[in-house]
Amino acid sequence: MPTKPRTQGHPDLESVMFTEEQIKTRVRELGQEIRAVFGSGEFTLISIINGAVMFTADLMREIDNPVRLDCIRISSYGDKMKSVGAPQVVASLTIDITNRHVLLIDDILDTGKTITLVSGLVRKHNPASLRTCVLLDKIGRREVNFEADFVGFKIPDKFVVGYGLDFAERYRNLPCIGVLSPRLQNASAWA
Ligand code: 5GP
Ligand code: MG
Repeated sequence: MPTKPRTQGHPDLESVMFTEEQIKTRVRELGQEIRAVFGSGEFTLISIINGAVMFTADLMREIDNPVRLDCIRISSYGDKMKSVGAPQVVASLTIDITNRHVLLIDDILDTGKTITLVSGLVRKHNPASLRTCVLLDKIGRREVNFEADFVGFKIPDKFVVGYGLDFAERYRNLPCIGVLSPRLQNASAWA
């Protein structure tokens, strides 16, 4: 049976913003950019989950330094499309990062609240250095002044899903990133 080309997206998407191939190419470049800044020494990756799972898994395979990995679980959206109130830390660090070089990874930088909160939390553990990497940067949406050190793609203010990004926990497994179809962007579509 012929398989569907993976660049075609998904029927629930209005449009594909980045294909699997485009993501792969950019993630590879990001690995090189990170390597150019960090050199060949060891550092610690901190992934903000769930959204950054896929990006983290692919990015760390493009970095051949010795790395350690930890995750911080943050809740911000619930089932809604705009963040409501302050993001909450649901599960924090489990390894010691004192005097370690740290790279904090998130899927998308939007208002800036999440990464500002997590950066503050990480800094309390006195890392040797802290840098940040996001796959997507929604320009013009910032409520808190924050710029990431490494950015995959700058994107317009559209609600995107796929490649780890969800809507009500769905679509994280899409290999591409796309704009969710407007007919699915309200809760009644899921009733
Ligand atoms: P911020 O705190 O910067 O407003 O939001 C960052 C978090 O909101 C991201 O980690 C992500 O979980 C979520 N987010 C922001 N924009 C989008 C989007 O377009 N799609 C999805 N699925 N999540 C988003
Ligand atoms: Mg997230």
